[in-house]
Amino acid sequence: MNLGLKGKQVFITGGSVGIGLSVARAFAREGSDVALGARNLQRVEEEAKRIADDYGVKSIGISVDVSRPEQIEAARKRIETEFSGIDVLVNNAGTGTEETIMDSTDDRWYAVWDLHVMSTVRTARAFVPFMRQRGGGVILNTASICATQPLWYEPIYNTTKAALLMLGKCMANEFVTDNIRVNTVSPGLVLTPDWWKTAGILAEKEGITPKEYLDGVAEKYAGNKRFASPDEIAEYYIFLASDCGKYSVGSNYYIDGGWLEGVR
Ligand code: NDP
Repeated sequence: MNLGLKGKQVFITGGSVGIGLSVARAFAREGSDVALGARNLQRVEEEAKRIADDYGVKSIGISVDVSRPEQIEAARKRIETEFSGIDVLVNNAGTGTEETIMDSTDDRWYAVWDLHVMSTVRTARAFVPFMRQRGGGVILNTASICATQPLWYEPIYNTTKAALLMLGKCMANEFVTDNIRVNTVSPGLVLTPDWWKTAGILAEKEGITPKEYLDGVAEKYAGNKRFASPDEIAEYYIFLASDCGKYSVGSNYYIDGGWLEGVR
């Protein structure tokens, strides 16, 4: 299958580990040049170098906190210098939360709003002009099944991801005439290093192993009773960014092993 991704230039936020890193590696495997964005400079540069070594594409690591407008602007300048623009933008940086509505501060709400929603508005402002110059592009946003089906312990995460879902639709409407396609991917359980870390902490409290803890989570939530690997999820981004996915505009794709209840 010719995916048409060879030579494309792709910026992936949250690209240094987990889903974002798998997405970056999958684009590189298809011959795309990649820019990985994350806060921890050492980790993002190491992973970018590994990609360049493994796939022979241009791959750069950029230290950026996407919740900070001036840092997005700095990332834009770096990408303009190194790549002269981009064809594909993957807004993937994000994090789970843990709070109650009654106990969380305004500052906490605004911080996660900036991370999940305003970062996506701001990267659009930064990179859509490049895409327009090139005659089109693709934007993929990572939301979550929790945007539609909330988990009780993370109302800020659920709410901001729900807003991101609507933002993706609005972006699709606004940019479709520029030949820029915007879609959203909503994963369910994806086994990243962070899940292992959480499992390590919570399993100890319950007197079980991390694996037993994770098996319990999968048993409880996933229809198919298992986590996805980040690599499995990455293939959907490849399809949606490729020529094979070019009739997809403004949609949201659940990749959740059957966790979502009902039809949406
Ligand atoms: P990880 O925690 O494994 O990785 C997060 C990535 O984002 C890292 O590269 C991290 O690097 C970066 N990051 C975090 N905060 C910022 C920031 N402020 N600015 C720039 N980069 C940042 O995440 P996952 O792979 O698990 O998740 C990726 C996305 O998928 C998230 O949006 C998440 O909400 C979503 N998701 C994940 C699911 C899962 O089960 N794993 C399920 C559903 C959705 P650094 O710390 O160096 O900045």
